[in-house]
Amino acid sequence: MTATAQWQRTEAGYTGVQPDAEWAREVRELAAQRDAVLLAHNYQLPEIQDIADHTGDSLALSRIAADSTASTIVFCGVHFMAETAKILSPGKTVLIPDERAGCSLADSITAEQLREWRGRHPDAVVVSYVNTTAEVKAETDICCTSSNAVEVVRSVPADREVLFCPDQFLGAHVRRMTGRSNMHVWAGECHVHAGINGAELAERAAAEPDAELFVHPECGCATSALYLAGTGAVDDERVKILSTGGMLEAARTSGADSVLVATEVGMLHQLRRAAPDIDFRAVNDRASCRYMKMITPAALLRCLREGADEVRVAERTAQRARASVERMVRIGNPGGGE
Ligand code: SF4
Repeated sequence: MTATAQWQRTEAGYTGVQPDAEWAREVRELAAQRDAVLLAHNYQLPEIQDIADHTGDSLALSRIAADSTASTIVFCGVHFMAETAKILSPGKTVLIPDERAGCSLADSITAEQLREWRGRHPDAVVVSYVNTTAEVKAETDICCTSSNAVEVVRSVPADREVLFCPDQFLGAHVRRMTGRSNMHVWAGECHVHAGINGAELAERAAAEPDAELFVHPECGCATSALYLAGTGAVDDERVKILSTGGMLEAARTSGADSVLVATEVGMLHQLRRAAPDIDFRAVNDRASCRYMKMITPAALLRCLREGADEVRVAERTAQRARASVERMVRIGNPGGGE
């Protein structure tokens, strides 16, 4: 046992372990013993991002997981993301450091609710954002990301109804972009987006007229900003709607002194690393996802020591969910430059 051995399980997550050099050494050693690749979503704590083999958005990480030769995937992100990795890599062991790391957006629709909704629109095509459970994906015709949602909906014949879930802001954005009147949108949302509300975004942009504005809509937390940018509430020229890869690239090439970032605050870590001379600031410091932050140093250590928590998806569900994810991958640019 080492100095970092003890952790406590609390409601907010596992605590009691410092991310020091000894922790880092043990994490890397255990990962090697388990033949595991460590993946960290952009919204993870900085120390988790720094120890990971790869960081990125959920889809990019799922693809890395599928291509990896490692037999075990440790997914430092929220549960639906680890499930997506399992759906795309059914033969691999997928671990999440704390299975309680959920997602308020994914929780806003259940498979039963979707079946009931579909029952009322039997000829409709169901399009679901990737922030959904495996069971909801299994009831879906085509999944989408924020990068290809418009193209996915455009791919549906004009005379077919579309049921879009679960994100109401992304849905409203897609409806406006496609001009589609036969599209029904589920009233779901991510709790973090409330920290990036329209009024605040417009106010911050007005107060800092020289700052560029980066909006990263992946993950639901900034889809309200995406919607607002589309209404013209903020000057178009200053707003850049970017994927993770696009945002890091824009950071490296931007001539701006300061950039306001409308997304979950975890993304700031990657941006500051990519362009240390730019003053990156969150539109709202409270835009932090408590589920993402449940993947603590203690949780990661426990995961690697105990081989827990393992993510399992029933074979039939995984098969049907995989079909809707694969249709998504074939349309437009789902990874948005990742
Ligand atoms: S930021 Fe929002 S959409 Fe993303 S994991 Fe957290 S609750 Fe879910």
